[in-house]
Amino acid sequence: MSENRIMLPAILPPELKLQVKRRSVCRHLQLKISNVAYVLTLTAPLKCPVRQINAFLQAEAENILSFLQKSGPARENYLKLLQNKEVFYLFGQECKRYVVRQASKTAAEVKQEAETYTFYVPQAWTQEAVATFMHNYFRRLLMQKIADLRPELETRLGLTASYHIRRMKTRWGTCNVAKAKININSDLLLFPVSCLEYVMCHELLHLKERRHNRHFYELLTEYCPDWRASAEILCKRHYLCLLDNL
Ligand SMILES: [Zn+2]
Repeated sequence: MSENRIMLPAILPPELKLQVKRRSVCRHLQLKISNVAYVLTLTAPLKCPVRQINAFLQAEAENILSFLQKSGPARENYLKLLQNKEVFYLFGQECKRYVVRQASKTAAEVKQEAETYTFYVPQAWTQEAVATFMHNYFRRLLMQKIADLRPELETRLGLTASYHIRRMKTRWGTCNVAKAKININSDLLLFPVSCLEYVMCHELLHLKERRHNRHFYELLTEYCPDWRASAEILCKRHYLCLLDNL
């Protein structure tokens, strides 16, 4: 490895672009990633040696790779991706979608076979209309998944709430305790179902304990023993926070 060039570790996809920013105010090496634009942005202190930066990248390479593999694109770019690519993530699984325009169609129809989703749409529909249809379709899938998980979870916890899907930038879920109303981040559609279940459980438990105190985490561990594994998957996104303004 070159001692004077900052290089992407070899295990990372070669099409991933690396952008290096040197900052005098920066104290630590930081990474940001966009898995839509496929750009890894590294911010480094002005005088940080190249060797140290390369070692840092090397140490983070596996995290970056698993992030690229596991997480879906940012919600805002999700429709854009659906427009352009045939591969997307649904509940942590790689799926394919096809759009078939048909002159004979007056309304859209979806056929699902295993991990393949085919959208048959009227010929005259604009790209935007297709995107909106797909967006609503996938949102319904998320709502359905919530409805599927709900009875068992609510019976086990002895708690009940209403659920709403929202686009949120900084939270996976919120709970309005007074109204027993839970908002679920629409991005959870992209992650494994265990993550959705964890977020639902977490928010429901706020009906018992509002704060993130020891009691709360005791309850969480009692009712959702594997919560740490799900939180870790979700955390990768905080850790390598997504840029969604591309
Ligand atoms: Zn919470």
